[in-house]
Amino acid sequence: MGRGGEGNHAGATAQRATTQRATTQRATTQRATTRVAPTVTIVGGGLAGSEAAWQAARLGAEVQLFEMRPATKTPAHTTADLAELVCSNSLGSDALNRAPGLLKAELRRLGSLLLEVADAQRVPAGSALAVDREGFAAAVTARLEAHPAITLIREEVTAIPETGVVLLASGPLTSPALAQALSAWTGSDALYFYDAIAPIVDSASINFDTAFRASRYARGEQDAGDYINCPMNEEEYRRFVEALLSAERIPLRDFERDDPHFFEACLPVEVLAQRGPNALAFGPLRPVGLRDPRTGRRPYAVVQLRQDNAAGDLYNLVGFQTNLRYGEQERVFRLIPGLENASFVRHGAMHRNTYINAPRLLKPTLQFKARDTLLCAGQLAGLEGYAGNIMGGLLAGVNAARVQQGQTPVTLPPLTMSGALIAYITQTDPDRFQPMKANFGLLAPLEDVLRGKRARGEAQAHRALDELESWLVAFPELAAQSNTTDVLPTQPE
Ligand SMILES: Cc1cc2nc3c(=O)[nH]c(=O)nc-3n(C[C@H](O)[C@H](O)[C@H](O)COP(=O)(O)OP(=O)(O)OC[C@H]3O[C@@H](n4cnc5c(N)ncnc54)[C@H](O)[C@@H]3O)c2cc1C
Repeated sequence: MGRGGEGNHAGATAQRATTQRATTQRATTQRATTRVAPTVTIVGGGLAGSEAAWQAARLGAEVQLFEMRPATKTPAHTTADLAELVCSNSLGSDALNRAPGLLKAELRRLGSLLLEVADAQRVPAGSALAVDREGFAAAVTARLEAHPAITLIREEVTAIPETGVVLLASGPLTSPALAQALSAWTGSDALYFYDAIAPIVDSASINFDTAFRASRYARGEQDAGDYINCPMNEEEYRRFVEALLSAERIPLRDFERDDPHFFEACLPVEVLAQRGPNALAFGPLRPVGLRDPRTGRRPYAVVQLRQDNAAGDLYNLVGFQTNLRYGEQERVFRLIPGLENASFVRHGAMHRNTYINAPRLLKPTLQFKARDTLLCAGQLAGLEGYAGNIMGGLLAGVNAARVQQGQTPVTLPPLTMSGALIAYITQTDPDRFQPMKANFGLLAPLEDVLRGKRARGEAQAHRALDELESWLVAFPELAAQSNTTDVLPTQPE
């Protein structure tokens, strides 16, 4: 959704505008990539690229890190620093019984530079890990600049370097020239420029006294029906549309508002609802081919939820890409019968985001299937959230060094949050791929049935950290060195 053709068109428009600049810079950049003896070349000094550079260097590789700022800007970054946080200064929950907290604990155990710096730059934010934004980016920049094995080159890369080990970590705002080169290499249908994400809910929180399983016209793969359906009568539908239309939206950024193609491919549900009182009932909420088993009749409207993960415990709201504020999404979407107590694992969003179809293109080592010496990390690889992008950089940096040194690249253990996230982005259905952030729904269920979200989260976290310890026995060089900070979060929830 919200990707592919339309995004490519928008990207192409921007690309034409920068062709001249790109052409003049290409020669410089190509000279730069051959200036130093072939080493690990990393494109993009954001969260993923900075972490990757540190990890590759710590494993003995010589690293060239290309960062195009400040000479070439992105529409969101404002400084020349590496690892600039473009929006929030929070890296999310640091509580071990929450998925982002577990991810951070794993990153600490794996010796993440950016987590070490974030811990040192922490500002009070309850159980979240928030940082002094400028202090964080400045400290990361200083650590990388001071590393003897890392050469920071302030230039835009406009073509994929053809030789040596290369790691692409140019982020959601990858420069148009490089995006064009990547699109030519991957095929334009495998590179997306916008994200239009529908919310995902935990199926355990759906009220099946109201919701029912069925496929439209009973044409599905599963006997019980492929979809979870939330039926509405006319009154419920009208109340829902009214709430949707009056709900508060996230203001678009200038570069999104000024782009005429932004909403073209995938209209947010609230924008579609503006087109008429029955626009949704004839659109994504059409009830055709469905009968409510409680009444035996066709409902006035139906919200359908589609399975989102192999374990079958996450479901997305079909056609519900949205730009509402997160709190408003919860308030309004809980008006849908059957979702009164829905637990939102991921909220909907619409934003500019360049990313590849990772399940089609990448291995779980973050190497491209078509070229072992080319790796990808961060938001470009379809990861979401600051900590998730740091984790992708860590894995790709480790593997870039290992490939460079003739070693077998590693995959992360599947019961860890890091391993599950990488498995999701590289092994999910490529036809329905959307970027993903850390959540417990990605992990295999626990053997023991535990009551309570907090207890389940704690049990999953301990299982993950135990598995990580066992895995590190085989790779002791990948464990944190003794001078890094403690693994466990300091802020209990
Ligand atoms: C407007 C906006 C707001 C966001 N807000 C949040 C938020 O609040 N919380 C959150 O978790 N995530 C947020 N994100 C997502 C966020 O971008 C990622 O979480 C994170 O920064 C991605 O890390 P990254 O390393 O993949 O990309 P980045 O951190 O963006 O790093 C990519 C780097 O590559 C450089 N680059 C690009 N092209 C080239 C090139 N051709 N040559 C050389 N260098 C290049 C860029 O200058 C940049 O420094 C936001 C994204 C956007 C666009």
